[in-house]
Amino acid sequence: MNDKILVVGAGASGLFCGGILSHKGYDVTIIDGNEKCGKKIYITGKGRCNLTNNCSAQEYLNNVVHGEKFMMSAINGFNSQDTIAFFENLGMKTKTERGGRVFPESDKASDVTKYLVKNAEKCKFILNEKVNDISVSAEGFKVTTDHGHYLFDKVIVATGGKSYPATGSKGDGYKFAKKLGLSVVNPRSALAPIKIKDKFCSNLEGLSLKNVMLCCQISGRNKQLFGEMLFTNDAISGPIALSMSSYVADAKDVKISIDFKPALTVEQLEKRLLNDFKENLNKNITYIIKGLLPNRLVDVFLKRINLSGETKVNSVTISQRQAIIRCLKNFELTFDSIYPVESGIVTGGGIELKEINPKTMECKKIKNLYFIGEVLDVDCLTGGFNLQTAFSTAYACANNM
Ligand SMILES: Cc1cc2nc3c(=O)[nH]c(=O)nc-3n(C[C@H](O)[C@H](O)[C@H](O)COP(=O)(O)OP(=O)(O)OC[C@H]3O[C@@H](n4cnc5c(N)ncnc54)[C@H](O)[C@@H]3O)c2cc1C
Repeated sequence: MNDKILVVGAGASGLFCGGILSHKGYDVTIIDGNEKCGKKIYITGKGRCNLTNNCSAQEYLNNVVHGEKFMMSAINGFNSQDTIAFFENLGMKTKTERGGRVFPESDKASDVTKYLVKNAEKCKFILNEKVNDISVSAEGFKVTTDHGHYLFDKVIVATGGKSYPATGSKGDGYKFAKKLGLSVVNPRSALAPIKIKDKFCSNLEGLSLKNVMLCCQISGRNKQLFGEMLFTNDAISGPIALSMSSYVADAKDVKISIDFKPALTVEQLEKRLLNDFKENLNKNITYIIKGLLPNRLVDVFLKRINLSGETKVNSVTISQRQAIIRCLKNFELTFDSIYPVESGIVTGGGIELKEINPKTMECKKIKNLYFIGEVLDVDCLTGGFNLQTAFSTAYACANNM
């Protein structure tokens, strides 16, 4: 218990881990390059912090894009119910919203930081001081910062990924790991907007589509996600587009399309269209399409099938009708790329999981060195699963030390 422990990073995982260790009686120092703790937490969940997902361990695992097997032990040791109980016991009330998303009842992400810091109050904090190097020596770990040198018995690297670098997470953990001889899976964007080449995109900026199916063929594999998406100036974003980006990873051969009517089969859609046609024979086709799609999409849609909006319904040919159905079920977008890693909600890639003991988060090659949180090669979908990863890996490390 006299071991001197350093946690590098006062983010979600570092604060949580340091707190538990200090309660166990360890001498814990938490160091962060920022002037305050948990800078990234403030911007999570659009300032409300979706701190976990109220679901079973298996459902959590279903939402892990990379690292599912690795996370089995950690999520079973500390699951989302434990996260909720942890914050509630500290005095922070929580609420569960659509899709199991859990938020502080106050809707304030700052409360999550406040309670994590409160729980870690026995730790010694060194802020505004960046760690530049970690090396192994006979006396322990030599840690070099902007301001000097320190010696610790154990080091926990909780430096996060490379996304949103203004929050302090700039990929330093990867640098430390590589220098210590560990493998790092190349960091890449995850949960980032998908850039598309189609020029019409900028005209649709801000348009949100609900209950659609985003379909992707990623190097020959099909992936479909149902829900809400959004057009930006040059990309698609919103929950299902962000989630899809994590599956695309580095793939170059990507085909994307939107099914605007996923609840209807082609036959059902044809029946509906025939009905609409019958009742509106003398109207323009624009009128029919407006009943099927948001107004802002109508011109883009008609252009795509080379049909003038002024075409009278009674003069639409069978092949034009079939083109409408095809396009409603399979509106193709031209993939360009995924936004760079800095713009991702999380970073894919990270410390190679084979290097880490999944029960303790200890490095297999270097005793007393640990990696927790987003710095690991684990990334999840949206819904509170990434913060749960931070808490579960932190708990595995602290509880088993
Ligand atoms: C806009 C946005 C919204 C998000 N919303 C959600 C959400 O609602 N729900 C969810 O589950 N996830 C969300 N995430 C993801 C989630 O925030 C991260 O997965 C999580 O914060 C990772 O925690 P961490 O402790 O591993 O790393 P971080 O929170 O990134 O913390 C790392 C800390 O290490 C410090 N550090 C880094 N390098 C050094 C160094 N060399 N020396 C000293 N200190 C260093 C940094 O300053 C930082 O404070 C969101 C992410 C973003 C960007």
